Order: sequence, then C-alpha cells, then structure tokens
Amino acid sequence: MRILLVDPSLDVLDAVTALLEAAHHEVCAFADEHEALRCLAQDPRIDALLTSVELGTISGLEMCQRARRVAGDRRPLYIIVMSDDSARQKLVAALDSGADDFIGMPPALDELYARLRTGERLVGMQRDLIQLASLDSLTGAFNRRAFFLASEEICRTAASTGEPVAAIMLDLDHFKAINDTYGHDIGDAALKAVAAEIAHVDDAVFGRLGGEEFGLILDQCSLDEATEIAEGLRAVIAGLAFAAPHGTISLSCSFGVATFTPGESVDALLKRADLALYDAKRLGRDRVVVFNGDERRARAGSVIRRDLPPGERAAE
Ligand code: GH3
Ligand code: MG
Ligand code: MG
Repeated sequence: MRILLVDPSLDVLDAVTALLEAAHHEVCAFADEHEALRCLAQDPRIDALLTSVELGTISGLEMCQRARRVAGDRRPLYIIVMSDDSARQKLVAALDSGADDFIGMPPALDELYARLRTGERLVGMQRDLIQLASLDSLTGAFNRRAFFLASEEICRTAASTGEPVAAIMLDLDHFKAINDTYGHDIGDAALKAVAAEIAHVDDAVFGRLGGEEFGLILDQCSLDEATEIAEGLRAVIAGLAFAAPHGTISLSCSFGVATFTPGESVDALLKRADLALYDAKRLGRDRVVVFNGDERRARAGSVIRRDLPPGERAAE
C-alpha cells in the first residue's frame, strides 16, 4: 500500500517508515500535518493514513476528520491512529473521528502488519466496488452517474478558472439495423470497438449515456479543438471494420459539439451538444455539427455550425 505517515517526531517517522518499507509498503512521511493533508489531496494513490493522536497544531483526531473530508466518498482511505495512551476514551474518539483502527505506540511489528493487511483487503474491496458502481461493464466507459459527477467537477473548476471546457455527444448511426441484421453479439462487439477508440482521447471524461450514445467532457479544450477531436473520431470510427459471419461490416457515428458557458449546468451544456447531434442525424448522419455563436454554415464533408438558441430548430 502507499501509506501516509504523520508524527511530529522525526525519530518515530524514521522508525515506523523502516517497519513499513520492510513489508514493501511505500511511505510518504510527514512531521507537519498540513503538509500531509496537502499530499493526500494531491496523490490519489494513497491508500492508508497512519497518524499519531498527538500532533502539532491540530490533534490526530482532527487529522482523521480532515483526511476523511479530503478523501471524500469516492476514494477509499484506511485510517489507523497510533497512540501510547490506549485508554478506551481515546479509542472511541478516534473511531468517531473517522479512523478505522487504532494501534498502540510504539506499534508491535506483527500487530501493525496484520492491521495493514486488513486495511489492504478493505481498500481493495472498496476500489472494486467503486469501479463496479462507476463503469459500464460492456465498454469500460463511465456510467451516466459517474460521468455526471466527474463532469460537474470539471465544470465547477472551469467556472472559477475561466479555462474552456467542451462537450461532445455521439450516437451510432442505424445501430438497430446492425443488431437486426447481424445479431446482438456483433452489435456488442461494435459498441466495444467504438468505445475503445473514444477512450484514446486524452484528458477527457468519457461516459456511456444511453444504449449507443456516448458523451465526452474535454477539460481545457476550445470549441475548435473539440471539433477537430470529434472529426478525427468520426473518421477513425467510419474506417473500422468488424468481423461478421459473412465478411466485415462498418458503421458510422454522428456527433454534436458544444462549449461550456461558466455558470451553467453540465445538463445545459450536454443539451446543446445533443441539439447539434440531433442536427447531425437530421442532415444525413456520419458528420459533426457544432453548436456555437458563429453563423451557421454547412461545409462539404461533415462539419457544420449551428448557432440557433436551444429549442429552436434550424430550417433545412
Ligand atoms: P439512429 O441513426 O437514428 O441513431 O438510429 P439507431 O438505429 O442507431 O437508433 P435507435 O434508437 O432506433 O436504435 C438504437 C439501438 O441500439 C436499439 C438497441 O437495441 C441498440 N442497443 C442499445 N444498447 C445496446 C447494447 O448494449 N448492445 C447492443 N447490441 N445493442 C444495443
Ligand atoms: Mg443510434
Ligand atoms: Mg441513440
């Protein structure tokens, strides 16, 4: 495990680090509890916190509470409190402050290792459960709920920094006909292959929003960059060949692209991308339509721009 170790004494830090490293744990050791909390916030790979009850400016119990807040409810963190005062009151207070376990100080070697094995087992199970609850089992993309949670975080940050965020919605074209003609298994294989291509997009939150509909939220990405990404995906997907009983089949996707306006919800952003996607379908599929403030123009090939406010339909 990667363990965050906090104790005001450098001697204790050295001694406990040696014990942990001997059992092949990675250790991030801090005498300063505020630095430790910063490290926890910045390093999502930290699995466990081993903290002394007696710290400097904040108590170990407050450390537990703050660490729990930093980890939130989507990241497992096993917390063990160390104290040379194993009085019952302290044990109860530590557990009530967010600790999972309590160990005497100095920790007995076999007891420390056994408690860490328990932590490792629980953190592993929690990670598996979080993954099961967040990922679509067929494609490996975020499910709808996880997609919105991650997107809301990106948009919240962008609203304060002013960095651009873009959304892409895409939907497989005439997918029902592929299922009807070749069977559900070939349809599933096609969905997986399309998702695998989308997963290559860097710095994107990627989710399966419906049966054959996907969404991407692109952090620090302008409308033009997002349009280029969508156009690249469109071309790659249109070039895929899937094995079917009597040869290979191909398919296409339609795309809608929109950019985030600070203050709006992820829902509102996706609605504009969805309107553009609707136009891409209506205009013949296998194309990218951009929703922005520019004049609406159709280009030979695929990309057109859509400037109508939400709800208004463009005349063909
Ligand atoms: P359009 O171009 O207008 O999007 O047409 P379409 O046929 O893709 O759209 P429609 O909404 O009529 O059909 C979507 C199909 O997607 C129907 C449904 O059976 C199929 N589908 C949804 N989820 C899955 C899945 O997990 N696996 C498979 N194989 N098919 C799925
Ligand atoms: Mg479709
Ligand atoms: Mg659809």
